Amino acid sequence: MSDNKVEVDKRRTFAIISHPDAGKTTITEKVLLFGNALQKAGTVKGKKSGQHAKSDWMEMEKDRGISITTSVMQFPYGGALVNLLDTPGHEDFSEDTYRTLTAVDSCLMVIDSAKGVEDRTIKLMEVTRLRDTPIVTFMNKLDRDIRDPIELMDEVENVLNIACAPITWPIGSGKEFKGVYHILRDEVVLYQSGMGHTIQERRVIEGIDNPELDKAIGSYAADLRDEMELVRGASNEFDHQAFLKGELTPVFFGTALGNFGVDHILDGIVEWAPKPLPRESDVRMIMPDEEKFTGFVFKIQANMDPKHRDRVAFMRVCSGRYEQGMKMHHVRIGKDVNVSDALTFMAGDRERAEVAYPGDIIGLHNHGTIRIGDTFTQGEKFRFTGVPNFAPEMFRRIRLRDPLKQKQLLKGLVQLSEEGAVQVFRPLDTNDLIVGAVGVLQFEVVVGRLKSEYNVEAIYEGISVSTARWVYCKDERKLEEFRRKCSQNLALDGGDNLTYIAPTMVNLNLSMERYPDIEFAKTREH
Ligand code: GDP
Repeated sequence: MSDNKVEVDKRRTFAIISHPDAGKTTITEKVLLFGNALQKAGTVKGKKSGQHAKSDWMEMEKDRGISITTSVMQFPYGGALVNLLDTPGHEDFSEDTYRTLTAVDSCLMVIDSAKGVEDRTIKLMEVTRLRDTPIVTFMNKLDRDIRDPIELMDEVENVLNIACAPITWPIGSGKEFKGVYHILRDEVVLYQSGMGHTIQERRVIEGIDNPELDKAIGSYAADLRDEMELVRGASNEFDHQAFLKGELTPVFFGTALGNFGVDHILDGIVEWAPKPLPRESDVRMIMPDEEKFTGFVFKIQANMDPKHRDRVAFMRVCSGRYEQGMKMHHVRIGKDVNVSDALTFMAGDRERAEVAYPGDIIGLHNHGTIRIGDTFTQGEKFRFTGVPNFAPEMFRRIRLRDPLKQKQLLKGLVQLSEEGAVQVFRPLDTNDLIVGAVGVLQFEVVVGRLKSEYNVEAIYEGISVSTARWVYCKDERKLEEFRRKCSQNLALDGGDNLTYIAPTMVNLNLSMERYPDIEFAKTREH
């Protein structure tokens, strides 16, 4: 086996998807504890303790205690090298989250067991379904009173349309949480509360029929045996192929806060989650074991280090390997660049990468030439597909306090839109500048960054736009006619793509009916 193959086979690249407050940050913290990345958990997001996360890069994030940024953490576990891509959990900035999901090979879905499946989880699962990403499920907060576990699994199956195979099973919950039964290993792991900040020595009882179990947890042992009969009859067995196809999810129970069950998830990911998968391009599939280096940019992050006002483009390596000082071909602009200072993200610290393999994420310093979706190769010309832009759902007109700075404003907005921080539209018929966002917080971030990075003070005004669609038509003549007749509703986005700006949904629907040859797209690929 070549060195490359050994390294590729070790990689597991995943992200956590969950509804806000389900416990994503807490799990991240415990996962890092297992990766020996942090000596003592408690520094990822100090919402309450006042400490700040290693992944908290932006001021706003600290102020609000929410994760705006997407960070990347790499750590060794169980012989594998795990890349965990953090996704912002807040309602806003979902575009970044969606695009991050294009860069992983599997996802961990975290569910608050007192609440069950919540809206944000539903939305994120829809995105993972576009690529049939394998999903591992964690039912969290077992130290609280939870809903009936069978009911929870039914809800996942019915609402999210994925079969569930329990790998562990809870024994009690809340104050009476005793531990979990590992179905595949036929062992009970006993829970001890108040040990969440450490990796604990656990008491393990082998065999569900072991009399030790009755001694340890009393009547819960008999209840467990009865319940397991029922569960075995009513639920699916784990099927690795079905998991890899995204049709079935292994389900684990535990408490992130109590650091209980997190090791089971990690064991599952290392054993079952796919190693770096091939990626589609407009020309062919790119295989991870190809010799030549390729990668794509899924995220651009500004202000990661306030002292250096830099921007970093996050790239997923898809094939070959990155070596310090190598020459890469930046396909969109057709230029070769020497890269000597890419970053890796070992447990949240930014370090210089000497080498990186498929599945790894590296950070390239960006001086405005790199855009989201850009492909890098060693000379071959193709484009990785599947990194989308989403039609914004909120719109505001943006205006300057000092009208002399119009040029700067436009430059700032176009650059911010290239980063994916916001979308900008210039109507064909007016001189307005319209900013479109998927989440409302984006508006604030944009005004803040325009001020600090471009030195322009902008304000927003309301505008009656309710939705936007990118328009396409193969027939040039028909497109021209559409352009002429509907110009008052048309605009160019930051990349000069024609967009239909609809004042109401009714208007959009009417236009779609009237112009059946025009495609109105909700997403656009970079
Ligand atoms: P995120 O918004 O998904 O990142 O969620 P957090 O990790 O910030 O968790 C939200 C809240 O739930 C915090 O107050 C956590 O301390 C709490 N929490 C997370 N996991 C558990 C758990 O297993 N049990 C209990 N009781 N609380 C938890």
